[in-house]
Amino acid sequence: MPSPKSKSEATPDLSEVAAIYQDLEKRVLPRSCQISTRCCRFRLTGQVPFLTLGEALYAAKGVRASGRKEIKPNPEGACPLLGANGFCTIYQHRPFGCRTHFCEAAGGVYPRKHLADLIQRLEALDEKLGGEGSRPLPVAVGDALQVRRAGRR
Ligand code: SF4
Repeated sequence: MPSPKSKSEATPDLSEVAAIYQDLEKRVLPRSCQISTRCCRFRLTGQVPFLTLGEALYAAKGVRASGRKEIKPNPEGACPLLGANGFCTIYQHRPFGCRTHFCEAAGGVYPRKHLADLIQRLEALDEKLGGEGSRPLPVAVGDALQVRRAGRR
């Protein structure tokens, strides 16, 4: 679990996460997502998005906004944030990787050089918030929800 530094506990700045996502929107590349949700089915793909602390706290904010206080493992090994209707339950708050890690059928992953400055900003915010680097989505968001429940973010 992240061990937030006291210097940032009083003034978490998740607006920077929103700003990074907004800047990403300005440079979207042509992709053709068919909403198969394959990329959300971790057991199927063998891949899991990794989140910095800012992304995890922002995703946790989305979980809380959807009326939940916790997330539960998906019995099929999919993302715990994938709804029964097949749609992301935190779409507006979904992590950076979910916005850029398009499946091959949709056109492939964004080139890293296209995103390098945004990734650096996420990493800088992680450092500022006292994060420990990127962590797998289920544990990162689960821990972020605990932090929010404890009233520390
Ligand atoms: S956060 Fe949403 S978009 Fe990302 S893997 Fe989970 S369900 Fe899919």
